[in-house]
Amino acid sequence: MTKTKKIYSRTITFERIVATAYASDLTERYCEECHGKAEMFRIESACAEFGVSMRDLFRLSETESIHAVETANGQILICRESLNAFTKGVMK
Ligand SMILES: [Zn+2]
Repeated sequence: MTKTKKIYSRTITFERIVATAYASDLTERYCEECHGKAEMFRIESACAEFGVSMRDLFRLSETESIHAVETANGQILICRESLNAFTKGVMK
């Protein structure tokens, strides 16, 4: 019972972070791997939404498990669709 409560409150926290992230970070741009427009968000926001560390995201993008692009000013953007697909596969 206690376990369920913990998970629930953690989810609430994540949702709050996500709401903030959406407002400023979600952009639509071309994803080379998707061969089309995709929702891309900053790596910090991806961490917050999916509860993974930045190091994990770098590793996943290096192994091409998820799509990532680096912008001209050195910012890493993560393809939301690829991260969604990846986490669905892993968390089931
Ligand atoms: Zn993509």
